[in-house]
Amino acid sequence: MKYLLDITGLTVSYYTDIGRAIALNQVDLKLKQGEKLGLVGESGSGKSTMGLAMMRMIKPPGKVEGGSVVIGGVEMLQLSDKEMLKKRLSTISYIPQGAMNSLNPVLKIKRQMIDAYKAHYPNHKLDQVLQLAHEAMTSVELPEHVLEMHPHELSGGMKQRVCIAIGILLRPQIIIADEPTSALDVVTQRQVIETLNRVQQKIGSALILIGHDMGLMAQSMDKVAVMYAGEIVEINDVQTIFTNPKHPYTQALISSLPRLQNRGEFRGIPGMAPSLYRLPNGCRFHPRCNQQQPQCQTTSPHKSVFEDEKYVTCHLYEAS
Ligand code: SF4
Repeated sequence: MKYLLDITGLTVSYYTDIGRAIALNQVDLKLKQGEKLGLVGESGSGKSTMGLAMMRMIKPPGKVEGGSVVIGGVEMLQLSDKEMLKKRLSTISYIPQGAMNSLNPVLKIKRQMIDAYKAHYPNHKLDQVLQLAHEAMTSVELPEHVLEMHPHELSGGMKQRVCIAIGILLRPQIIIADEPTSALDVVTQRQVIETLNRVQQKIGSALILIGHDMGLMAQSMDKVAVMYAGEIVEINDVQTIFTNPKHPYTQALISSLPRLQNRGEFRGIPGMAPSLYRLPNGCRFHPRCNQQQPQCQTTSPHKSVFEDEKYVTCHLYEAS
């Protein structure tokens, strides 16, 4: 099996009083064991929906409407709820946005780790669980006495590391970290990302890092997937994304990054991302695109696939 993760045609909509919002539209993504992918895009582009859909954690009024999420040859979307519960943490783990606020304030860290473990293996001996909890704490470079502490006794960075420790307790094959460094100062941000990288290497899992910070992506990821209005518009290796971006939106994102040579000058992307309730016909980026072609307003572009399942979704790259 070449790919650990194989997502095809994943489609998610939210049904609200004002209509259907297509949050993910026919998304494809493949990842090999141990690979690190950065998932970037503006707020509302579908990054978190993607993580939640992979975990089967989309709640009403959201609905997975189509597609396939295969991990290690197993179709996640076909599993029963009970089977899926077992897969969470053991096969795929999601560290949500603001994870540090998801810790239970009245329970010691040790109790929270034991509960997470016992939900999967209720019959395992406590000694065994504690041994794994100690190992997880060591992996994230927290002293063992933190297990005896309550969340309010820890700093933001320490709480985030505890969340990573819980996320890796069962050595999942895929870790999804959703903006794990938001609300942390820059020094702690770097430490948390280094921790994630080290842990990922140690247990050999694939890592999907969701975020806005292109600098963090450049430093630590193998590949980057760029999302726009519910679609992945480009996936490429990290170097190509930064030095030779293909999609006009990726190009605009990269050229909007501050650089030393154009100090004081900020180049934004004109216009706004469309509402997911009222998406434009044709290419979703066409109202903002400076390389628009006649067919862009009427026809959705197809994926143009390069080697190793990297692709761009734009008419400019379609074979004529
Ligand atoms: Fe621009 Fe057309 Fe490509 Fe869309 S398909 S990004 S509008 S050139």
